[in-house]
Amino acid sequence: MNVALMLCWVWRILLGDGGLWLQLIEAKYMQGKPLLACSHSAGFQFWKSIQDIKDDIRLGLRFSVGNGSRTQFWLDPWLARELVRLRFPRLSAICDDQAVLVSAAALEDGWNFAFRRSFGPAEVQEWDVLKEVVPLPGSSVNDNVSWSLSPSGEFSVTLAYQALCQVLVLPWLSPVWKAPMPLKIKIFVWQLLRDRLPLGTEVLKRHGPGNNTCPVCHVPEIGTHILFSCVAAQALWCFVREALGPELEAHDLVDFLQVRATQVGRKRDCSGWSLQQ
Ligand SMILES: [Zn+2]
Repeated sequence: MNVALMLCWVWRILLGDGGLWLQLIEAKYMQGKPLLACSHSAGFQFWKSIQDIKDDIRLGLRFSVGNGSRTQFWLDPWLARELVRLRFPRLSAICDDQAVLVSAAALEDGWNFAFRRSFGPAEVQEWDVLKEVVPLPGSSVNDNVSWSLSPSGEFSVTLAYQALCQVLVLPWLSPVWKAPMPLKIKIFVWQLLRDRLPLGTEVLKRHGPGNNTCPVCHVPEIGTHILFSCVAAQALWCFVREALGPELEAHDLVDFLQVRATQVGRKRDCSGWSLQQ
């Protein structure tokens, strides 16, 4: 319930609904960036608490893009209620700036991103689709946020609490424990699902050393980054794709678990990570 109550403050910051306290936070910590794009978690206790739980609001968050200045292109849910990074995983994986804003990526004549390397055939295909289906922001008004878990679109502590309780019983945990794979791998996946791995963001939450960013890519070091979107991980997935086929490639944890969990008749394949019973 504490998290649900704190999310109320996150919601107010997202709406810009605050007085002097919000002006202080915006000036000292946000410095022109949207809250969800801020990774700097040092500071006074209130700000640290906000940083610790702010991503939980994504459970119901929806962005309606106006000028695109408050919405992260790849990470925020703004395109037909779907994350752009999941719709275009190959492009997202090689984009230099995962937190780029819609407004920063939109030029008059089309989308513009800095990619780490030139496109292969699959990325060319994704790029063609992206140009076709992702609309450029065409308004001068600010972006809007709404909360899809309530009929009114307004944040509700009660509904947030109920949603968080449901998430705690992660649907993947049971299949993971029953899957035919080594115990140490099960424990690793469990730790990953429950944020128990010593990743940069988790270490910093517990006041450990480091600045919470990946030393290679300089973005927040979270589980999906080190396993899927990091340059080093991408190289490894290239080997997987080449050696075992593109159907075994995954772009994030949910993608990975869904693919593996829904495959039928492959209890033990080369990867030995199947979750099918
Ligand atoms: Zn990295």
